[in-house]
Amino acid sequence: MKRIYLDHAATTPLDKEILEKMLPYFCEEFGNADSPHSAGRKAVAAVDDARDTVAQLIGAKPTEVYFTSGGTEADNWAMIGGGYAQKGKGRTQIILSSIEHHAVLYAAERLQNEGFDIVYLPVNEGGMVEVNSLKKVISEKTALVCVMAVNNETGVLQPIKELAEIAHAYGALFFTDAVQAVPHLPINVKDLGVDMLSLSSHKFYGPKGCGVLYVRSGVKIERFVGGGEQERGLRGGTTNVPSVVGLAAAFLKNVGGMSAANEKIARLSTLFLQEISGVDGVTVNGNEPRIDGVLNLRVKGVQNVDLSYRMDLKGVCIAVGSACASASVKPSHVLTAMGLKEEEAKECVRISFGKENTEEEVLLAAKVFVETVSALRKF
Ligand code: PMP
Repeated sequence: MKRIYLDHAATTPLDKEILEKMLPYFCEEFGNADSPHSAGRKAVAAVDDARDTVAQLIGAKPTEVYFTSGGTEADNWAMIGGGYAQKGKGRTQIILSSIEHHAVLYAAERLQNEGFDIVYLPVNEGGMVEVNSLKKVISEKTALVCVMAVNNETGVLQPIKELAEIAHAYGALFFTDAVQAVPHLPINVKDLGVDMLSLSSHKFYGPKGCGVLYVRSGVKIERFVGGGEQERGLRGGTTNVPSVVGLAAAFLKNVGGMSAANEKIARLSTLFLQEISGVDGVTVNGNEPRIDGVLNLRVKGVQNVDLSYRMDLKGVCIAVGSACASASVKPSHVLTAMGLKEEEAKECVRISFGKENTEEEVLLAAKVFVETVSALRKF
């Protein structure tokens, strides 16, 4: 049985062409990027190139790009490092949306335990943070506002530019987790007007365990991973050269708006919806604007764990909520924030398409979906 993978919001396969670009940095050019000798110089040259590429792709300066061990570290760092740097200025309030990734929610809880006042912004039924909700709670005490660019469970885009403007009017920093935005959307930090932005390589066909935190020059954040003086003294740890090379190459190849692939993903998503349209009681969670690759579906009367388990037995991988929370029996905090009851949230699955999916796969997956829902409803 051939596996059909429809969980690209959880992770994407490493592109073989990207792997080829990474390989020389494992066994041949394995030098430590901080060593002054020739092996180290080869490594640092590759890291510098990667930093230049990422900077160019997001409209930043190379000195504003920090490599991390992934989206989680970048999120933790932005929240905790950013929050602490602002606390010194008497700013002790952190505002974040209630639909953030657990990496951000965790950091907020930690900040709360350390004396910060945490305020969660609600979302409307369509899954979007309303700009007015920020206006109601922000003050001169606000250190940091954090709202993700694209939600990882629903694919709903958030009004980052407008929210960042409000944050800045009060002298607060604005951070956005853009981990789910690439490869679906172009990212330009200047257009968005953000102070910090996080990315994760494995969401755009790059290696796992590698990410980026953009920090606008002039913005002071405290270091989060201490040790050596890597990343201009702000993030200790020997640079993961192969992964950094892979991240930049994958970003360049799959930069947001990579139109042919994006168009294909949009077509596949529409095709799937068409094919399952005969099934009663299926609704899409989250309003437009959404990225094309993600469909969050509520299937009335069907438990999501049963549906995903049975589809998996037939070779189709789909998600119950987000991968990071799938070990939890708790209903999705994103869907309940959108107004779904806990029982309703447990009827929701996430199906996310990627550039390697084919029409044939999607037709087959839709057939499996229809048959499985029908069988579970009879049962
Ligand atoms: N933020 C979002 C929105 C995500 O979807 C993820 C990954 N599920 C992360 C952060 C964490 O990224 P990483 O897996 O690289 O730690």
